[in-house]
Amino acid sequence: CGIVGYIGNYDSKEILLKGLEKLEYRGYDSAGIAVMNEKGVHVFKEKGRIADLRNAVDNDVMANAGIGHTRWATHGPPSKVNAHPHQSSTGRLTLVHNGVIENYDLLKREYLQNVELKSETDTEIIVQLIELFVKEGLSLEDAFRKTLTLLHGSYALALIDEQNEDTIFVAKNKSPLLVGLGDGFNVVASDAMAMIQVTNQYVELMDKEMVIVTKDEVTIKNLEGEVISRAPYTAELDA
Ligand code: GLU
Repeated sequence: CGIVGYIGNYDSKEILLKGLEKLEYRGYDSAGIAVMNEKGVHVFKEKGRIADLRNAVDNDVMANAGIGHTRWATHGPPSKVNAHPHQSSTGRLTLVHNGVIENYDLLKREYLQNVELKSETDTEIIVQLIELFVKEGLSLEDAFRKTLTLLHGSYALALIDEQNEDTIFVAKNKSPLLVGLGDGFNVVASDAMAMIQVTNQYVELMDKEMVIVTKDEVTIKNLEGEVISRAPYTAELDA
């Protein structure tokens, strides 16, 4: 299973699909991408191979930002509905997740009694919580941070917001995730291998960090909201 993300000057679809193909070796049962442009967020997902996902993607949709996922089901059987990305009730927020949220049932009962869930995944709880806290008045960044502090378990996350076309929000705890730096773009990946065709400059993330990624900037913060600076390294892999 794995995660990819791209934001920059080029169309994101092919970069995401190629990235997911490079992560196929990790094993998966379904795959999906979500791309974002001025018209909104477009989600494509399928049970089965990336080749099936490729066929499902509408090539006419051009989008400079997107996130992608290969799933290894832990909560809810492999299916199109349980495949990632998952969206909040209003459709504003779209999320991919690798890992396991151990307290998802508790969080569901405590916060989401009034929310109709579409999937059987632990992941959907995360995106619905973020939307709930936004509805309660928090900024997206604060809602994301508040949600992260409630999660017990492992996660690599990438989130896009229809109302924030120039940003991908990411976070990690006990699941691998890297940010890759480019000229006029930045990327996100579980493994540098996924994005080595587009950049060899990566920034490592530590557990319980979140990152705000735009095409020109990468801002790492801890869960207290303090900015952390960390130099990139050069990945030595064959493209
Ligand atoms: N726990 C999540 C699910 O079952 C993510 C699994 C994964 O890491 O791919 O959908």
